[in-house]
Amino acid sequence: MQGNSKSAEEGRSPSSALRAPSPREQGEGEDIAIVGGGIIGICAAAYLTEAGRNVTIFDRTGICEETSSGTAAAFAFSDVLPLAHKGMIRQLPKWLADPLGPLSIPPAYLPKLLPWLFRFWRAGRADLYEASLAAQVGMMRLAEAEWMGLLDRSGTRPMLREDGSLEFYESEAEFRASLPSWAARERFGIGFRHVEGEELAGLQPGLSPRFVKATFVPGWKTVADPKLLGKAVWAYAEGLGARFEKTRIERVDAGQDGATLTLADGTTRRARQLIIAAGAWSHLLAKNLGERIPLETERGYNTTLPKTAFDVKRQLIFSRHGFVITPLETGLRVGGAVELGGIERPPNFARSKAMLEKAKAFLPGLDPAGGREWMGFRPSLPDSLPVIGGARNSASVFYAFGHGHLGLTQSAATGRLIRDLVLGQTPPIDLAPFSPQRF
Ligand SMILES: Cc1cc2nc3c(=O)[nH]c(=O)nc-3n(C[C@H](O)[C@H](O)[C@H](O)COP(=O)(O)OP(=O)(O)OC[C@H]3O[C@@H](n4cnc5c(N)ncnc54)[C@H](O)[C@@H]3O)c2cc1C
Repeated sequence: MQGNSKSAEEGRSPSSALRAPSPREQGEGEDIAIVGGGIIGICAAAYLTEAGRNVTIFDRTGICEETSSGTAAAFAFSDVLPLAHKGMIRQLPKWLADPLGPLSIPPAYLPKLLPWLFRFWRAGRADLYEASLAAQVGMMRLAEAEWMGLLDRSGTRPMLREDGSLEFYESEAEFRASLPSWAARERFGIGFRHVEGEELAGLQPGLSPRFVKATFVPGWKTVADPKLLGKAVWAYAEGLGARFEKTRIERVDAGQDGATLTLADGTTRRARQLIIAAGAWSHLLAKNLGERIPLETERGYNTTLPKTAFDVKRQLIFSRHGFVITPLETGLRVGGAVELGGIERPPNFARSKAMLEKAKAFLPGLDPAGGREWMGFRPSLPDSLPVIGGARNSASVFYAFGHGHLGLTQSAATGRLIRDLVLGQTPPIDLAPFSPQRF
């Protein structure tokens, strides 16, 4: 194995990049190839270059240009509850009845989706739900610790915002229905307080009176802009020697001593180790390697308004309506929603418009003009846990995808875990619940 095993905590400055010639420089192909330049691939590259490895990211578009660029910017470390739970499954019929509501399934896509939906429903069984919840709690503790370290090492801590979030209720009944989920979070030491009246008005002035209560989560963090953060962490990895190549990877093949990538122009590239971090497209490449991973996409939409649209104090969460409002350094982002519609269908921006209309009703002073609409593909597994682990048939290939709603939040932890796996070190959490072979 090439490279030293210097710990990520020690870091490594660009000027200290004295190292042995890489396999690439010796004409032997890549040391480590990562397919995917989203936030997961970027963080994996950062951790691996810190450890002295030579990394090349291959992406068809660019660094942090697709789904990871348009998130709601939340470091949702307290968001530990798996999506498949009885409360959610009970809501499904109501949500599906509204084609522009929080959740939709284009009817033509339903037959293809049924096996995933079946697994999702099964993941809501009490024992499986509890197992996913415990795994998610461990992952989130690691996620927070790793992001705080990576923010410091990459000089990006000024992009962190620690002003918490507010989650709203329109009736006492809705508030009471939310209590079991808060009790579950309390069990894991997640801090929050329920607020109303003047305290609520102080935390977010200008709210519609339809909101009778809210829950304030002070530990909730966001970032100034997810695209800028991704690019800044990449600049740090690039400073440590990481490279980027813009190309589509058509297929991957692997044996015990390395992997072969076939590029869009038909040429091939060898790599000692390969990491597949291709977001919602990852399962297509994993299929080349004999894996059957039930990855679906939960498409999400938003509109980014000019910053002046409204003075939003912190992230505002409208769970019943399936969207959030985030104040970014670069604008005011209104978005969310889940559309289980696959990776090929064109976007339906009526969904962004529907959320924007609601935002205007919830914050009556909001100016909805001048927005930019966007859609992204959440890569989602039915048990709400990502896939982090080695390939079935090759010790040279690792998977890092399927983070669903939490890819930004869990990206530094995933980078750390992938580094440990690649270096043959013991990871700090049990990776069995995240195994690519668990399905
Ligand atoms: C509306 C919305 C809001 C969200 N808000 C949050 C949030 O607030 N907090 C949070 O933690 N998460 C959030 N998420 C989830 C988050 O966006 C994803 O989990 C995360 O971006 C996934 O990152 P990724 O690197 O796995 O995938 P991506 O960002 O999709 O990156 C994958 C990359 O792989 C490339 N690629 C794919 N196939 C190939 C190929 N064959 N060859 C070359 N390149 C390829 C693609 O071009 C892409 O650049 C949100 C998602 C949406 C849609």
